[in-house]
Amino acid sequence: MPAQLAINQGTPVRTREWPLWPRPAKGTAEALSQVLASARWSLSGPYRGVESFERRFARDFAHYVGAAHCVPAASGTASLMLAMEACGVGAGDEVIVPGLSWVASASTVVGVNAVPVFADIDPDTWCVDPAAVEAAITPATRAVAVVHLYSAVADLAALREIADRHGLALIEDCAQAHGAVYRGRRVGTHGRAGTFSMQHSKVLTSGEGGAVVTDDAELARRVEHLRADGRCYPAAAPSAGAMELVETGELMGNNRCLSEFHAAVLVEQLKELDELNARRARNAAVLDGLLTELGCRPQQTSPGTDSRTYYVYGARLPEGELVGVDIARVTAALTAELGFSVVPSYRPLPVNKLYDPTSRRRYAIGEDYEKRIDASRFQLPVCEGLAQRAFTLHHAALLGDEADMHDIAAAVRKVLANSAELAA
Ligand SMILES: *Cc1c(COP(=O)(O)O)cnc(C)c1O
Repeated sequence: MPAQLAINQGTPVRTREWPLWPRPAKGTAEALSQVLASARWSLSGPYRGVESFERRFARDFAHYVGAAHCVPAASGTASLMLAMEACGVGAGDEVIVPGLSWVASASTVVGVNAVPVFADIDPDTWCVDPAAVEAAITPATRAVAVVHLYSAVADLAALREIADRHGLALIEDCAQAHGAVYRGRRVGTHGRAGTFSMQHSKVLTSGEGGAVVTDDAELARRVEHLRADGRCYPAAAPSAGAMELVETGELMGNNRCLSEFHAAVLVEQLKELDELNARRARNAAVLDGLLTELGCRPQQTSPGTDSRTYYVYGARLPEGELVGVDIARVTAALTAELGFSVVPSYRPLPVNKLYDPTSRRRYAIGEDYEKRIDASRFQLPVCEGLAQRAFTLHHAALLGDEADMHDIAAAVRKVLANSAELAA
């Protein structure tokens, strides 16, 4: 019998195009041409008699998430480092992070000279397990940086209770969850600070970008200084032509500002976020049903989630199927069927080749520190187990219609039915 699977030159399930991401919101070209003509391309340029797009986005986004303050920044990475420093995290402090996340969860912690401590995940939500967080607390712990991974909201009620009881700062990394709602409030507002990324792949994007949100005015002021070389916005706008930022010298910073171009794009993108989140959620619900029938276990969100958002759709392979086949081979087979990239989950951070502080001389600051940031001391069996069985798709796959979900399910069904072709 000739091979059936597309990866072995069989006929693919689908050859039709998939939706592209990102896509510009309606008013984007107009907003960008306003910036071009404005003679102000950065918040650190002179005031021109009108509010900067950066201020406007900060206001709109704070209102959207329901936080008192928003400080935009150059990236999600910058936002995480700003939030940690503004929460008092510094040299030698420990920050508890999920064992399964984008590398920035760990690299930003060493980026502020602190020590990442990896906690294992919950097998259903794929987010950090509160019991593992509690077990990882030591006298050196200063903060917990939780990630709402892929399409789930972490168990915020339990994490908040643990953080409060131990006097730790809870920082929500919402780079993958813009707009998700938990117990009536958007994510980003459940801890001391929330951080966002607006990098290319995210559900709200300007190519690169980020933001920190908080209800704490003093913390927001520290973030402002840290991201603008020790300068901040004044209480009242200056006269036109004068510098708007004031040099207070309260706190030394580094330039991590968001440009006016990025801010203008984000003002427009934000207007379409809810509508696109709803479309992705509708399609994901259809896909959940189809994949569950095949025995797969789609990623769950924590109880208390009112509305989840889909940055990435993820599911576990059916128990007992494709056992012993490398997950990368399974996802390559699915990719070949669909003409859309299907990939395994992240590698757990302690074994992720992207996390290697020894490759940077700046972290060679003493034997004790180097030993503490050596990730090989962490065992994370739940992360490891998931990473061998999970397949994931970027949210662009959810931007089309229901027929697309049937194609994805058909690809999974076909790979399961022809698994013998993958056994090497
Ligand atoms: C994307 C991402 C970041 C980093 O954001 P950048 O804008 O790429 O710097 C941090 N944390 C998580 C969970 C992310 O997905």
